[in-house]
Amino acid sequence: MNETSRIYIAGGDTLIGTALRERLRAGGYTNLVGEPPDEPDLTCPWQVEDFFSAERPEYVFVAAGPTGGIHANQSYPAQLMRDNLLTTVHVIHNAYRYDVAKLLYLASSCSYPRLAPQPMRVESLMTGPLEPTNEAYAMAKLAGVVLCQAYRRQYEASFITAIPTNTFGPHDDFRAEDSHVIPGLLRRIHEARCRGQAEVRIWGSGRPRREFLYSRDLADACLYVMRNYDADEPINLGGGPELSIAEVANAIVNVVGYRGRLSFDTSRPDGMPLKCLDSQPLMKLGWSPSTDFHTALAETYDWFLRHIASQENRNARKAV
Ligand code: GDP
Repeated sequence: MNETSRIYIAGGDTLIGTALRERLRAGGYTNLVGEPPDEPDLTCPWQVEDFFSAERPEYVFVAAGPTGGIHANQSYPAQLMRDNLLTTVHVIHNAYRYDVAKLLYLASSCSYPRLAPQPMRVESLMTGPLEPTNEAYAMAKLAGVVLCQAYRRQYEASFITAIPTNTFGPHDDFRAEDSHVIPGLLRRIHEARCRGQAEVRIWGSGRPRREFLYSRDLADACLYVMRNYDADEPINLGGGPELSIAEVANAIVNVVGYRGRLSFDTSRPDGMPLKCLDSQPLMKLGWSPSTDFHTALAETYDWFLRHIASQENRNARKAV
C-alpha cells in the first residue's frame, strides 16, 4: 500500500473508521474513496456492488456494521446480527469480485468464548459458549472472520482479520443507554456534575475487568497490520491497560471533576467477567500503543464537550 493507493474504509463514520481516516491522512494516504457522506448503504447489495464497480478500491479496511454496549446488545440482537452479517457479506464478496489487493476485517473481542483463558489467544476462538448478553452480535463478527478465511482458501484472496480490544475515543457513540461503558459513563457522570446530582449508579458490580485501547492507537495498529501481516489466523489488537469497571468509573470521575458518590446497580448485568487480549503476536510484529489511558480519556471527554454537549446545549436553548 502506498500513498496514492485507492483506499476504502467501510464504516468511515464509526469510532474506528473516523480514527482510521485521520491516521491515513496524517500518514500521507490521500486517495480515500467512499468517505462519508458518499459511502453506500452497506446493507444494500446493489449499492455496494455499484460502489465497488465505480470506485475500484485497492485496499479495504472493514470497520463497518452497527455496534453497541451491553444494553444495546440485549435490546436489539436481531438488528445487530442482521446488519453486521449483510454488511460483511456484501463488502467481502465485492472486494473479491473487484480484485481488491488486500482487505482487513475487524471482528470483536466479544467473539471469544465467555470463559476463555485470559489473556485471550486466537486459539481459543470457537472453543466454548459465547457470552449470552452479546451472542448474536459476536456470532456475526465470527462469521466475518471465517468468511475471510474461506475467501483466502477458495480464491487466494489476501483478506486478513483482526480482533480489536474494547476501544474508545472521539466520535464514539455517547448515548446514555446504548453505548459502551466509557462513553456511557462519561455522559452520565458529566450530566450528574452539571445537575449537581449527589450519586451516579454504575451498572453491574463494578468488578468485571476490561482491556481498553484508544481509537487513535487502534487506527495505527490497523494500518500497521495492513502493511505487515498476511496470514490466515486472526491477530489480536490490544496492549492497553486492563482495569475493573470501578477503576474506570473513578478515572472518569477525575477527568470530569465530579464530586458526588458512585454506587453499583447489581440489577444490571456484568457481562463477561474478564476480557483481555493476548497481543504478544502484534508486539512481536513490532507494534505497541503509545497513548496513556488518562490522556486518552481526557482527549475523549474534551471531544464530547466540544461536539456533543455543546450542541445539545445549543439545541436546548433553541427549544426554550
Ligand atoms: P462489554 O464490554 O461487551 O461487556 O460491554 P460494555 O462496554 O457495554 O460494558 C462493560 C461493563 O461495564 C459491563 O460490566 C457493564 O455492566 C459495565 N457498565 C457500568 N456502567 C455502564 C454504563 O453506563 N454503560 C455501559 N455500557 N456499561 C456499563
